[in-house]
Amino acid sequence: MPAPFRIYNTASRTVEAFKPITPGHVGIYVCGMTVYDRCHMGHARAMVVFDGFVRYLRFRGWSVNFVRNFTDIDDKIIARAAETGEDPVALAARFIDAFHEDAEALGLIRPDAEPKVSDSIDGIQALISGLVEKKHAYVNAGTVWFDVKSLPAYGKLSGQKVDELQSPDVVPGKKHPADFALWKAVKPGEVSWESPWGPGRPGWHIECSAMAIGCIGDTLDIHGGGLDLVFPHHENEVAQSEAHTHKPFANYWMHNGMLTMASGQKMGKSLGNVWNVQNALKEFPAEAIRLYYLGALYRSPLPWGEDALPEAMGGLCRLYDAREVAEAMSGKGNPTAVAQDLGEDAKRVLSLSAAFEDNFLGALDEDFNTAKAMAYVFELVRAINRFSNHKKAKKRGGPVVAGALAALDLVSAALGVLSMDVESYQEEVKNKRCCAMGLTRESVEEQISERTQARADKDWAKSDTIRDALDAAGVVLMDCTEGTSWRLRICDTQ
Ligand SMILES: [Zn+2]
Repeated sequence: MPAPFRIYNTASRTVEAFKPITPGHVGIYVCGMTVYDRCHMGHARAMVVFDGFVRYLRFRGWSVNFVRNFTDIDDKIIARAAETGEDPVALAARFIDAFHEDAEALGLIRPDAEPKVSDSIDGIQALISGLVEKKHAYVNAGTVWFDVKSLPAYGKLSGQKVDELQSPDVVPGKKHPADFALWKAVKPGEVSWESPWGPGRPGWHIECSAMAIGCIGDTLDIHGGGLDLVFPHHENEVAQSEAHTHKPFANYWMHNGMLTMASGQKMGKSLGNVWNVQNALKEFPAEAIRLYYLGALYRSPLPWGEDALPEAMGGLCRLYDAREVAEAMSGKGNPTAVAQDLGEDAKRVLSLSAAFEDNFLGALDEDFNTAKAMAYVFELVRAINRFSNHKKAKKRGGPVVAGALAALDLVSAALGVLSMDVESYQEEVKNKRCCAMGLTRESVEEQISERTQARADKDWAKSDTIRDALDAAGVVLMDCTEGTSWRLRICDTQ
């Protein structure tokens, strides 16, 4: 049986025990991107949060049907296509490819289904026809409007009162300012489909109802998305779906928080680059980016600024350093007896490792609290790094850190962070961080060979000068019998 968990439900504004519709199974629909540009760091939060959540659910034994849509027909796409002279569906298809490229580079799992609006027109029209028949929608000059007054429960998700809602612009043909378009009559030059109400295209909200019901069923276990979507998008999804099916649309509403600018920081052109996921990935390993998001509770606001990714990088570096030193320790024996002999720091590693699984998974089981779960990871990692400073630990610490290494493997299995081996991690850091630190891999390696030659020539002054210059740039050299290896100084763990 899968492990029980609790989750904050936006609909009730409380953390609730999760009850599946089908035992052992979770059907989750997450609102995806409107594809007219590359993903930025705000989009990536939703991508990483729900990726982590689905991994965690599967790790805990749930079977998951994970659906995330693409909005490939929308005003913004049509406007962008008009600027570039491209066909809007083709423009959207190009950015769907770019999205997949970013998602893959971030190391995210593919949803089980990725429906898009242009492929879902039949389902959308069937849903609209049902709403017109049931008198929850009306037609005016080729546009179909949802009649909010026809549904007394309208506003229940976001807590809005229908009579207090005003529409920003007065639209002719609407009965109530909060009525919203299910089908938009075609405008000259726009992409359109034939329909019982004349040529046109779907409104925004209806697509998610149609795609979610089509891929999962009338009732979803969990509906996810960004907090900015609660009103009107999710409110309208509830209204359309429930007016049509007479069943609850989603049992739990899970919303990720927004990124906020760190105080005192402005958005500059140089910072603007990093807003784009593709650019962030040039400088930072995917796991550092994921750690930035997973280090916070998914539904809290998350400060974003120029230090955000370097800080996450420092954290990732501490994790891999701990794994590296723990893996390098050798020695056999009974962990308790060895720890008894090696002192308090050894005992602390042992006790934190013993409690780790319960603490870590317990934090995730209570509203997917990755901030708390990762705090347990960093507590253990600090203890490992402290213990590794003891001379005896290097020779005999193997049995003491065995449990800690198993704990680090658990983090990788449950959240997909810390999933590289130490060597691949080092390679990844050298490739990506070098450019952020104003270095190139090639120039570092060239200087190291120059220094090796100087040492062979017994030109110690030159050798020292090169070492000092590299050190000042953040490159740490390690000489051993096989030659000189190097790493970038990112964290100051020990
Ligand atoms: Zn949606």
